Order: sequence, then structure tokens, then C-alpha cells
Amino acid sequence: MKRIISAAAALVLTLGLTSCARVDPDKAQESVQVIAMDTAMVISTYGRHSTRAAYASEDCIRALEALLSRTKEDSAVSCLNGAGTLELGEPGEELIPLLDAAERYRAETEGAFDITVAPVVSAWGFTAETFQVPGGAELEKLLDLVDGSAVRTEGRTVSLAPGQSIDLGGIAKGYAADKLTAVFRENEVPRALATLGGNVLAWGDRPDGTPWRVGVKDPARPDDQSAFVGVLELTNAFAVTSGGYQRCFEENGKLYHHIIDPATGYPADNGLTSVTVVAAANTGEVPGNGTMCDAYSTAIFVMGEAEALDFWRDRRADFDLVLVTADGRVVVTAGLAGAFAPDEESGYAFETVS
Ligand code: AMP
Ligand code: MG
Repeated sequence: MKRIISAAAALVLTLGLTSCARVDPDKAQESVQVIAMDTAMVISTYGRHSTRAAYASEDCIRALEALLSRTKEDSAVSCLNGAGTLELGEPGEELIPLLDAAERYRAETEGAFDITVAPVVSAWGFTAETFQVPGGAELEKLLDLVDGSAVRTEGRTVSLAPGQSIDLGGIAKGYAADKLTAVFRENEVPRALATLGGNVLAWGDRPDGTPWRVGVKDPARPDDQSAFVGVLELTNAFAVTSGGYQRCFEENGKLYHHIIDPATGYPADNGLTSVTVVAAANTGEVPGNGTMCDAYSTAIFVMGEAEALDFWRDRRADFDLVLVTADGRVVVTAGLAGAFAPDEESGYAFETVS
């Protein structure tokens, strides 16, 4: 009985303390976890409207998934893939600027990023999780359908070439991150951290005024959640990682992953094990740098190191890179020199390039 009374007293005291304490509304914090787009997402928002912002973020992601998913039968993308053409209604209209952006990234990356790689992704079983190695002749046939320049938009109507389908898996989370910046602005969120699988949005800085710390995973140790090649210190930035280790299967002792080289139809195998693209998050554009980082991370993984660095040198004002190579190096572009803290224990050799 005595124990119950003292427990009750402790509870009252705690409640009393809580109700008396003054919480600075600008320091309020909220977190939501969302399982969407085949990944677990965590969005932590700060500020006086943090709760409203966190729930608006969740709504925003769920609405996007309903539009862009290839596995939800009634999504706009599934309807387009099924019928080859689709007139978009009001909620779906935003697909048009997103498809325009996808086409721009396809052209810029000379086809390394191409949303019409969809039938090839499906043939490998990555869409339905029925993993298998397709035959060479089947891949050959499917590669004829890969041509993003054949996707047409006219007014609100989108059309594909016969037999084509699209897969926005390489760009959807980045686009979602761009949309979250709009949610944060609307709700006057001064700082937030959104982790959408390999897509991170570090909005503002941390509550103590220091940059957000975002780990770059060691692709050679995918199951060890604490294995990093280094940490990025970021304020108002997107950091998007693509890596074969994120989705793969093994057959006859060989590992096959989900990033397809549209030139061959096979998982890209150009000497990189992960690519992280970093760009500013405060431009206000949707689609903007989040979408760009996502498309580029996929494309650069396909390109390989030499082509990736040429690509970066042409656009170094727009983004920076952390490349992890299969031969044990971590290559960091000059713009991140002060923002990347290598993990010297990780066993990698570190290089900065300019
Ligand atoms: P990410 O994790 O952003 O690199 O995206 C990989 C996802 O994008 C895959 O699971 C596929 O759905 C899709 N994809 C695979 N290869 C490509 C490619 N070369 N271009 C565009 N999307 C791709
Ligand atoms: Mg991507």
C-alpha cells in the first residue's frame, strides 16, 4: 500500500512539474514515423507549429505515394502504365512538372537516369519482390522500350509509347523531400530532420545551433547500422544516397541490385558501391534540388567514378558528391571538404577532388 501511495505521489509530482514548467513554444518538437515508398521514414519537426507540420508532412507523403506508386493499383502512375495514356485530374496534375524534371535529368545524364527503365526493373523482380535473373533475349527486347524521350505530355494528358511503362522509384523520395520544404515553410518550421530512406533533408540547423550530422553508410557493411564511412555536417541541405546494398538479392552466389544500367539492362557495375549527392535545400523550388539529388544519385551510380567526376565538374556550383568505390576509396568533392568528417577507422582511403 505504501508503495502504491508513494508511486501515486511521484506521479502527482511529475504531473505537477509538467503543468508548471514553461515550455518555450519555439522549442517544441514532434516526430512522425511513416512507412511509405518501400521504406521507413522519420520526420522530426521543431517550432511552435511542429505538431501540425509533422502531421502535414505525413499527409503529404501519403498523398504522393497514392499518386506515384507502381505497386498501388489505383495510383496515377499505375493507371498510366496500364493504359499507356492518362488525363490527370487536379490532384494528379503535379505529375506533369515531375515528368518534365525526369526528362531533363535523363537528357543531362545521357540516359543513365531513365524512368522508362520500368519494364527492366520489373523483369528483375524488384517491383513485385519476385527476384529473378532475366534471360539475355528478354532483356534485349525490353531495352527497346527504354526511351524517356518518348514520354509525351500535352496539357494534362500524359502518353507513353506502346509497351512502355514508367518507374519513379529513383526520384519519388527526392520529390517528397522537396515537397516537405514547402510544408516546413507553410508551418514556419525553423529546423527539422527528415529521413526518407536514403534521402535526408536537413532543414535549418540543430536546436543547439550546430549543423545536422548525417552518416554516410559503409556499403560494405549494410547490416551494421553503425558502420559509416564518415559523417556529413549539414545545414539546409539535401543528402541523397544510392547504393546497390539498399535493395538486392543473391542467386547462385552472385549479388544483383536494383539500380539498372539502361545501356545494358543489368544492375550497374561501374566500380561504385554508393553515391551521395548533396545540394542546398532552401531554394523554394518544387520539384527542386531534392528531386535533382535523387535523380543524380541514381544516374551517377550508373556512370561510375570517372564519368561522375566529369559530370560534377560541369555542374559543381549545383551539388557535391561522396563516392564510395569498390576498391576501398571514399572520394569527396571540394565543396564538402569542410563538411565531411571521415571515419578513419572504416578502413577506406579518403581523397578530396576539385
Ligand atoms: P535510388 O535508390 O534513388 O537510386 O533509385 C533506385 C530505384 O529507381 C530502383 O529501385 C528502380 O525503381 C528505379 N531505377 C533503377 N534504375 C534506374 C535508372 N537507371 N534510372 C531511373 N530509375 C531507375
Ligand atoms: Mg535516386
